[in-house]
Amino acid sequence: MYYKAAEEMGIKEKLGILTDAAKYDVACTSSGVDRRGDGKGMGNTELGGICHSFSSDGRCISLLKILFTNECIYDCKYCINRKSNDVPRASFTPDEVCELTMGFYKRNYIEGLFLSSGILYNPDFTMELICQTIYKLRREHGFQGYIHVKAIPGADPMLIQKAGFFADRMSVNLELPTADGLRQLAPNKHRKNILAPMRQIQNGIEANKNELVLYKKAPYFVPAGQSTQMIIGATPENDYQLMMVAENLYQKFGLKRVFYSAFVNEGNMVKPYLRNGEEGGFWKENVFTPEAAGRVLDGLYQVVEHPEGTAHEAYRADYRLAGKTGTAEIKDSKEDTNGTELGWFVGISGADTDKPLLMVMMIEDVKERGGSRYVISKAMAGFDVYNKGEAEHEG
Ligand code: SF4
Repeated sequence: MYYKAAEEMGIKEKLGILTDAAKYDVACTSSGVDRRGDGKGMGNTELGGICHSFSSDGRCISLLKILFTNECIYDCKYCINRKSNDVPRASFTPDEVCELTMGFYKRNYIEGLFLSSGILYNPDFTMELICQTIYKLRREHGFQGYIHVKAIPGADPMLIQKAGFFADRMSVNLELPTADGLRQLAPNKHRKNILAPMRQIQNGIEANKNELVLYKKAPYFVPAGQSTQMIIGATPENDYQLMMVAENLYQKFGLKRVFYSAFVNEGNMVKPYLRNGEEGGFWKENVFTPEAAGRVLDGLYQVVEHPEGTAHEAYRADYRLAGKTGTAEIKDSKEDTNGTELGWFVGISGADTDKPLLMVMMIEDVKERGGSRYVISKAMAGFDVYNKGEAEHEG
């Protein structure tokens, strides 16, 4: 298919428009993929993560984050690129995206490409352009850095499949948590057109794992997995519904990460604060069902009470404790053996009494001191004082 972008606009001007138009998309954060260059092409990827953080205007640092085009035939009410919005429009050509990516990569400005797009003419036409672009990058320019592309809902599955063999990560935006929300704010989009490519990508990743066991040289399919994002707050779903949607995405679609994107200027977070001498109260009620909360608490008791639980040394015969241990390695790379380790322990005693205590403790540099076991020993001194008054008997 032949595509000719507006020639009167220079590539720099397009870049200004199409990077600005991409800044609202936050689904580009990566869990990374580890792949060495083969010595013939250029670039490689690091497991430690390509997209490390976000700049103040919402763009990811170290990825070239652009839209292929901000032209769009759809009219999603939340989107700056909706067809009814009067904004300057621009479209790249596949060669222009390649030129920019290679140029920025050679100058060490970026570690990879995040390419999304409005819908130009129709989903197939747009997805075909995305495929052409990443094919050229990989095959003609030998680019072996990180590539994250959007799968365009409604596009032919063959095109999604093709893109999956050239991209490291793909994402399909769920947009809104429920089909009702989608009907209200994105009337041109249909839930099934969004879920179909998500399912296709997930199945493709699973099939690829088996192929790679049988054939070591089988091509990788979306090796860094898929992600999605949705807008929260524009439609009236409650927190429980949102958590169920996220849980389904993790369980049924094998997503690496679910992003929640508030409207940029209207999304507010409640500032936590300490109460002194005031009665506490619920902030939000019915976030979980009592059954779900009970099941989680039972699991946490097992962490302490089961002989093989990771916090079994916190077990006390005279009072019940539920807990969870954890560590976080701080190192420069997977191979780095000189890093340090944070250890933490969360404990809850007296959960079913009128004297409950929740303690969260984190200690730095526990690597040579027993990891989270070191933290447990410190935390338990506090729990014992609270529950048994042991300190009063000491000395
Ligand atoms: S399809 Fe995408 S680019 Fe087009 S209006 Fe909707 S959200 Fe915006």
